[in-house]
Amino acid sequence: MTRLKQSMPQYAVGHLKWLQTINEEMSRQYPNVYPAGISYDGVGLPDCIRQGKSAAEKLIAGLFLQEPVK
Ligand SMILES: Cc1cc2nc3c(=O)[nH]c(=O)nc-3n(C[C@H](O)[C@H](O)[C@H](O)COP(=O)(O)OP(=O)(O)OC[C@H]3O[C@@H](n4cnc5c(N)ncnc54)[C@H](O)[C@@H]3O)c2cc1C
Repeated sequence: MTRLKQSMPQYAVGHLKWLQTINEEMSRQYPNVYPAGISYDGVGLPDCIRQGKSAAEKLIAGLFLQEPVK
């Protein structure tokens, strides 16, 4: 067994507020660009897959559909 110390990032205090600001600024300045991945909303592979799928759905909705996906 090999212990991988400090291999997983720990979000800093205030991360959720930072995330909200990033999402608001991105939607204002770069509509149809959606951040996803380990830096944002969960550090495990399932979290990253969920974020990628969500980003893809929002992008498709923004480009091709009238109703934005929440
Ligand atoms: C040792 C280790 C073990 C892990 N084991 C597990 C596990 O068992 N289960 C689990 O759920 N999660 C595990 N994780 C976490 C999981 O691997 C990560 O959360 C996930 O891979 C992050 O995906 P991501 O796409 O956000 O980032 P990454 O997978 O890091 O992808 C980012 C990509 O962007 C590229 N890139 C970076 N900068 C630039 C640039 N300037 N221009 C172009 N490309 C760039 C990089 O080369 C990389 O390909 C582990 C992580 C580590 C380090």
